[in-house]
Amino acid sequence: MPEAMVAARASEATNGTAQQVDVAVVGAGFAGLYLLHRLAKAGFTTVALEEADDVGGTWYWNRYPGARCDIQTIDYSYTFDPELERAWQWSEKYATQPEILRYLGFVADRYDLRRHIRFGTKVSAATWDEAAERWLLTTDNGAAVSCRYYIMATGCLSSPKPPEIDGVKDFNGEVYFTSRWPHEGVDLAGKRVAVIGTGSSGIQSIPMIAEQAAHLTVFQRTPNFALPAHNGPRPNDRLSLLDGDRAGYREQARWSMTGVPYPQQTAVSWQLSDAERRERFEQAWAAGDLVHVLTQLWADQGVDVDGNALVSKLIHEKIRAVVKDPDTAEALTPRDHPFGAKRPCLDTNYYATYNRPNVTLVNLRQEPIKEITTSGITTDKRSFDLDVIVFATGFDAMTGAIKAVHPITGRHGKSLSDVWSHGPQTYLGLTVAEFPNLFMITGPGSPSVLSNMAVSIEQHIDWVVDRLIALREAGFTTIEATETAQAGWAQHMADCATVTLHRLANTWYTGANVPGKAQGVMPYTGGVGPYRSICNEIVSRGMLGFRLTGPDVAEQCNDGEVVRLQPDVRLVLGMLADMNLPPIESLGAQGARDFLDEFNKGRPAGRPVGEIVDGTLPGNDGPLPYRLYRPATPGPHPIVVYFHGGGWVLGDEQSDDPFCRDMCRRSGMIFVSVGYRHAPWHRFPTAAEDGFAATRWIAEHVAELGGAPGPVLVAGWSAGGNIAAVTCQLARDRGGPEIAGQLLLNPVTDCAFDRPSYADNATGYFLTRSLMYWFWDLYCSPGDRTDPRVSPLRGKLEGLPPAFVVTSEFDPLRDEGIAYAEALAAAGVPVEQLNARGHFHCSFTMVDVIITGVSGRVRMAEALRRFAGLGDEAAVPIAVAAE
Ligand SMILES: Cc1cc2nc3c(=O)[nH]c(=O)nc-3n(C[C@H](O)[C@H](O)[C@H](O)COP(=O)(O)OP(=O)(O)OC[C@H]3O[C@@H](n4cnc5c(N)ncnc54)[C@H](O)[C@@H]3O)c2cc1C
Repeated sequence: MPEAMVAARASEATNGTAQQVDVAVVGAGFAGLYLLHRLAKAGFTTVALEEADDVGGTWYWNRYPGARCDIQTIDYSYTFDPELERAWQWSEKYATQPEILRYLGFVADRYDLRRHIRFGTKVSAATWDEAAERWLLTTDNGAAVSCRYYIMATGCLSSPKPPEIDGVKDFNGEVYFTSRWPHEGVDLAGKRVAVIGTGSSGIQSIPMIAEQAAHLTVFQRTPNFALPAHNGPRPNDRLSLLDGDRAGYREQARWSMTGVPYPQQTAVSWQLSDAERRERFEQAWAAGDLVHVLTQLWADQGVDVDGNALVSKLIHEKIRAVVKDPDTAEALTPRDHPFGAKRPCLDTNYYATYNRPNVTLVNLRQEPIKEITTSGITTDKRSFDLDVIVFATGFDAMTGAIKAVHPITGRHGKSLSDVWSHGPQTYLGLTVAEFPNLFMITGPGSPSVLSNMAVSIEQHIDWVVDRLIALREAGFTTIEATETAQAGWAQHMADCATVTLHRLANTWYTGANVPGKAQGVMPYTGGVGPYRSICNEIVSRGMLGFRLTGPDVAEQCNDGEVVRLQPDVRLVLGMLADMNLPPIESLGAQGARDFLDEFNKGRPAGRPVGEIVDGTLPGNDGPLPYRLYRPATPGPHPIVVYFHGGGWVLGDEQSDDPFCRDMCRRSGMIFVSVGYRHAPWHRFPTAAEDGFAATRWIAEHVAELGGAPGPVLVAGWSAGGNIAAVTCQLARDRGGPEIAGQLLLNPVTDCAFDRPSYADNATGYFLTRSLMYWFWDLYCSPGDRTDPRVSPLRGKLEGLPPAFVVTSEFDPLRDEGIAYAEALAAAGVPVEQLNARGHFHCSFTMVDVIITGVSGRVRMAEALRRFAGLGDEAAVPIAVAAE
C-alpha cells in the first residue's frame, strides 16, 4: 500500500496526523539509544517515544541513595564503538547512578540521538493494521505514530510494582519509591524512616538511609543474599585484561554465559577439599564481583543443590560473623532458595548496618504488616510511628512495561495481554507469533536480566537491525514468528530451566513477586553465548521459524524449531565439533582405545560412593577384571552386573566409572562393572559369553561380594546393553542364573541398519553410522550377525526378566532399542521405556556434564529398585527435577 494511503488511514484512526516513520522505538534507555544510533546509520526514518523527560531509562528513574550498577562498569558499557570506549573513562569499579546517567547523556549527544526522541510521551496502545502492514502507536502526548516496525525497548525493570499494603493513601508522612526517586533528592536527616523491601534497591539504599535518618526500620519479607561490592577504583586485574586486548575481551564477553568474560569452571565441589573450597570462596568474597561468586567457585554450584548448598553455608557464616544480634542475623539469613536462583545483591555495609543502634529489622514472616495508618505502620505485633516510608518493592519484571501498553493488538484483533494470559510466549524473547513486525529488546525468553544487559542489549539490537536491513534489501515488508518456532522455543526454555536452579526459587524471575502473575522462569537460562549462537543459526538456516512476506517477492517460510537437542547436549556436541576430532574409526582399534582413555581423563570425576573394590573373576578362558561400587548406606545391597559401552571394541570395567558411581548412589545397589574381552582381538561371541559367565559367577558369589541374597540384575550401555540383553536370554536358556531385571541403555539389539534412526542420526551426534559399521565389522562376521547372541531382537523373547529400555532421540541406535522394547512387550515381558527427547547416545553416561540426563538416571534407578523389590524411591534425592 502506498505510503500516502497509509498516512490517510492512520490519520483517520487517530483523528490527527500520525507521524510516519519506518521504525518506532519505545524507550530511550540503554537499548533505545543504541537502537536509534543503528537505525539512523542504516538509513531508516525513526522516532523514539519516551515517557521520561530525558534519556537514561533505568538510570533516569532510579535515583535513590546508593543506586549503582552491580556488574563492573567496564563491562556494563556499550562496546559497539572503540572510539566511544576511548572517549569515556569510568571513575569507579561500580559507577553510581548519576555517573551512568551522565554516560548515557554523553552517548545521546555524541551520536546526536536526541533529535529522534519525543520525551514526555507515553505509548498507550498499539494496533497492527493488517492491510497497511503497519503499526499505529497511540500516545498520551502529541501525534500518533505510524510505523512499519515497532520495537519495544521498554526495559525489563521499568514498571514499578504497586504497593500491596492497604492504607498508603492515609499516611500523613512522606512516601517515596526507590524506582521513582525525586530528582531534587530527599532530606531524611532526623526523620523516622521505614524501608519496605530488601531486594537490590533496598540493600543498596538501606546503609545510606541509616546514616541520615534518626531511626530506620526495615521491613523484610524474604532475606536476600548480599555480597560486599568492595567498591573503589576500577580493579587493575580486570582493567589490564581489557586494556591488553580490548577486542578479544569484548568478544569473550559476547560468547560467555553471563556477558562478562569469565572462564567456565570445571572443578566440581566434591573434587575439592573443605580447605580448597573455603580458599576459593574467600578469594571470591574479597573480589567483590557478583559474576565471580556466581560462576567461579565450582562447576556444580549453579546446577546442583548439594554443590549450591556449600556456597550458601559459607555465606551464612559471613552473615553471622558480621551481624552481632543472633536473632537479627538469623532473620537476615536466606534459607528458602538456592544461592543465585534469585538475583543476589552487591552491597556496601549492608549487614553491618543492622549493628547500628538506630536500625531495627522487622521480620514480616513473623509479624506481617496489618496496615499503613496515618502515623506509621502496624504489624501483627506492634506499631511504628514514622515520618517517611520508602518502598523498595521492585518491579513487575520483564512483562510489566510491555503489557502496560494496552492493548497491543496483533493479527485477527488479538491482544498481547490475552495471548500472554498464562505467561509470555515468544520466539527468542524477541518476537511473538501473530504480532508481525513487533520486536522486543531483551524480552521474556531472552537472557536479559540473567546477563550483563549491556551485552545482551547490543546483541539483540544488532540482530534486529541487521534483519531489518536484510528484509529491506530482499523486498520483504513483514516478518513474523511461526507458531511452531514459538512452541519449540517454549520447549527449549523449559529444557534450559531444568538445568539451573532458578526454578527452585519464587522470584521476580518467575513472576512470583506480583500477585496473580503467571508463574514460570521468564529469562532464558541457557546463557548469553549459546543464545547468540542460536540467533546466528536462525539466520544461517534461512530465517528459520519466521514467515517473511513482501509485495513483490514470494513468501518465504522455513518453518521449524531451532533447538531440538537438550541445551547441554547442544553445547557438548558444539564443543566436540569445534575440536575437529578425527573419526574414531580412522584411528585403528588400539588407537581408538587410547583415544577414549585420553578423552575420559578430561571428564568430571564421579561422585564418591561407599567403597570401590577392584578384583578379578574367573571367565571362560581366564580371569576377567571387575570393579565393584558399593553404596555408602548400610548393606547388604542387591547386585547389578554392569557391562560398559564401546561397541565391543572400546572401554573397560572402569570406562563408565561416573555412570556406575551415580547409579550406585541413586539405586542404593552394588554395581559390578565387568571387564569383558574386546574385538578385534576377541571376536563374536566372546563378549556375549564373557558377559554370561561373569553374571553366573557373580550370582554364585553374591554373599562373598557383600551383596544381598537373591537374584542379580543386569545393566549395560550401548554394546554393553547388547551384552546385558543377551545375558538374560542365555540365563533363561541355560538354566540360570536368575535375573531380577534388565536395564538396557541405548542398546544394540539388531544387525539391520535400515531403521530410520540410522539415517536420521547418521552423523553429528558423536556415535555415527560409520562408527557402528566399524564396530560390527571388528566384532562379528556378516554370517554370524543374525545370531541372537549379537542380535537379541532376533531371539526368543518370552520369559525374560522385566526390562527398562532407554533410547535417545538423536542416536543411530534409537529405533532398534524401541523395537526391542516393543518386541519384549509383545512377548509378555513387563517393559518400561524411556524415549529421551533431545538426547544423544552419551547423554546418560556423561554424568555431571549432561545435567539434563539426571532425570533419566533417576528413572533408571527407580526401575532397578522396583525390579529388586526395594520400592521405587531413588536412594539419593533428585537434585535436578525430572523432565
Ligand atoms: C537499580 C537497578 C540497577 C541495575 N543494575 C544493573 C547492572 O548493574 N547490570 C545490568 O546488566 N543491569 C542492571 N539493571 C538492569 C537495567 O534495567 C538494564 O541494565 C538496562 O538499563 C535496561 O535498559 P533498557 O533500555 O532496556 O531499559 P530501561 O533502561 O528500563 O529503559 C526503558 C525506557 O522505556 C520507557 N518506557 C517504558 N514503557 C514506555 C511507554 N509505554 N511509553 C514510553 N516510554 C516507555 C521507560 O520510561 C524507560 O525510560 C539494573 C536495574 C535497576 C533497576
